[in-house]
Amino acid sequence: MTTAEQSAVGRTGQAISPEPRRMLIDGAWVDALDGATFDSVDPATERVIARVPRAGARDVDRAVRAARAAFEPGSRWRTMSPSKRGRLIHRLGDLVLEHAEELALIESTDNGKPLTHAAFADIPMTADMFHYMSGWATKIEGNTIPFSAAAPGRFLSFTQREPVGVVGQIIPWNFPVMMAAWKLAPVLAAGCTVVLKPAEQTPLGALRLGELIQEAGIPDGVVNIVTGFGDAGAALAAHHDVDKVAFTGSTEVGKEIVRAGAGNLKKLTLELGGKSPNIIYADADLERAVAGSAAAIFFNQGESCMAGSRLYVQRPVLEDVVRGLVAEAEKIKVGVGTDPATQMGPLVSREQFDRVMGYVESGTAEGAELRTGGRRIGDTGHFLEPTIFSGVTPDMKVVAEEIFGPVLTVLPFDELDDIVTVERDNVYGLAAGVFSRDVGTAFRTANAMRAGTVFVNTWNTLDAALPFGGYKQSGWGREMGHAVLENYLETKTIIADLS
Ligand code: NAP
Ligand code: MG
Repeated sequence: MTTAEQSAVGRTGQAISPEPRRMLIDGAWVDALDGATFDSVDPATERVIARVPRAGARDVDRAVRAARAAFEPGSRWRTMSPSKRGRLIHRLGDLVLEHAEELALIESTDNGKPLTHAAFADIPMTADMFHYMSGWATKIEGNTIPFSAAAPGRFLSFTQREPVGVVGQIIPWNFPVMMAAWKLAPVLAAGCTVVLKPAEQTPLGALRLGELIQEAGIPDGVVNIVTGFGDAGAALAAHHDVDKVAFTGSTEVGKEIVRAGAGNLKKLTLELGGKSPNIIYADADLERAVAGSAAAIFFNQGESCMAGSRLYVQRPVLEDVVRGLVAEAEKIKVGVGTDPATQMGPLVSREQFDRVMGYVESGTAEGAELRTGGRRIGDTGHFLEPTIFSGVTPDMKVVAEEIFGPVLTVLPFDELDDIVTVERDNVYGLAAGVFSRDVGTAFRTANAMRAGTVFVNTWNTLDAALPFGGYKQSGWGREMGHAVLENYLETKTIIADLS
């Protein structure tokens, strides 16, 4: 079998359907109104794997209308008990697990990531998100609050939580199905309805999830999935009948979403970029720190919003750590995602490859020392060697900007204050990490980081129950945990005069 043929076939011999896809609006699988389509491409082979509808503003409008109708009082969804709603969400989690092999193959082929990672991380976490959120459907509660401006007992005052309404959700391509689950699970638990737009590079996973959503028995129109480009996302972000937009993607597009949402002042939550500091103290277990720091940057081809891309190493162990990381990087098997031996796949697209390569070139041009990597592998597919720069300064583009690829920059430091000073200028605040054997050092460092998540002696260890999101320009609001429900609920205060 050639590499190209191998790419679309999973371990069980299962293959991805080459059939043209349709998008999900009001429970029906439809083409774009104008019949426009685009191709989804396997980044390992650069071959087209499926044709997908390209939604325009009119398709988005149609989907929003369907979501609005499904949200009307008296609809099947609005009259469903929270317990039933929770059971349907749980069933969806079960269906994800039942189709884990197939979903992992779709992710690996559409995005390029190793099939083993999709099967081990993305898909179980997708299922877990639905299972975790299913329990919240019955636990959305208000408070009874004492009323002090009158005699006790005169007024009964309390709050109740209500779904925010029609939600627009826009997601990126790095964890396509998992990002869809992070978004959809809380929307369903809260009782909202939704129009979801997956990224143009990776539409297939969300569309398959749409079929499972139907199979789970979630009523028509509750979840609508429109495939398309940035203009479809923009139409959703600007739509006047959308009550709330939840966006995951770049900080740059996040700012456009803010502007687009101003028209009807829709509620917004944003999960944006990152340039996360990872700190290794001289007293760390160095073997563990090196392995953890390699995983922090190279997992998922470095296409991770929380990638530990600026590594600070305390000076006495600097060279040992860099040598260890170079050895780790050179051990990583880069290849077609569906090959079980592959540890790192291709970057998602030609455009992304060129972007990342542009940073590699800028690093070299700015005088950074290239310790390993930096070259394309092969001449088909967007494969890049894991890359490490040392001898960098905080003002270099490779250190200051999000690269979103397998490129690590290593900076020396003497004490925590040095890092705090440099990190003040980091516009991002998504994640941070610290490796130290000393509890005091580790937690003082964790406290000093202005980041939504801090990893201590670990990295990439997320959980559906733990809130995740950004400080500073990494976003507004939190995903996961019960914190995410706040994104999709309104608070209504009711005051009754009992006299
Ligand atoms: P992106 O270019 O910002 O795209 C994200 C989504 O927005 C895509 O669906 C995209 O559609 C759509 N879009 C593009 N232009 C739009 C516009 N003007 N209005 C509305 N929607 C628009 O980001 P990306 O390159 O796909 O993803 C990488 C970025 O996501 C990185 O910055 C990464 O850090 C961030 N990220 C953050 C998190 C987190 O939880 N904080 C998680 C994952 C990724 P098209 O695909 O059709 O362009
Ligand atoms: Mg693709």
